Amino acid sequence: MIEPDCEFECPYCGEINNVRLDVTGGSRQAFIQDCAVCCQPINITAQFENEELIELSVERQD
Ligand SMILES: [Zn+2]
Repeated sequence: MIEPDCEFECPYCGEINNVRLDVTGGSRQAFIQDCAVCCQPINITAQFENEELIELSVERQD
């Protein structure tokens, strides 16, 4: 519950990746995670409301 795993699609290769989120880290969190498959850096933005994930967006870094 504190650190839910979330799935998202890599914006480069389309493979499914997992990200571990810290709901106590703030209402808006942005970070970069390398794709586990193609190793490209993915910009991830997570938005929380009352410690629940309401939006997860991923973007290419270019
Ligand atoms: Zn990828």
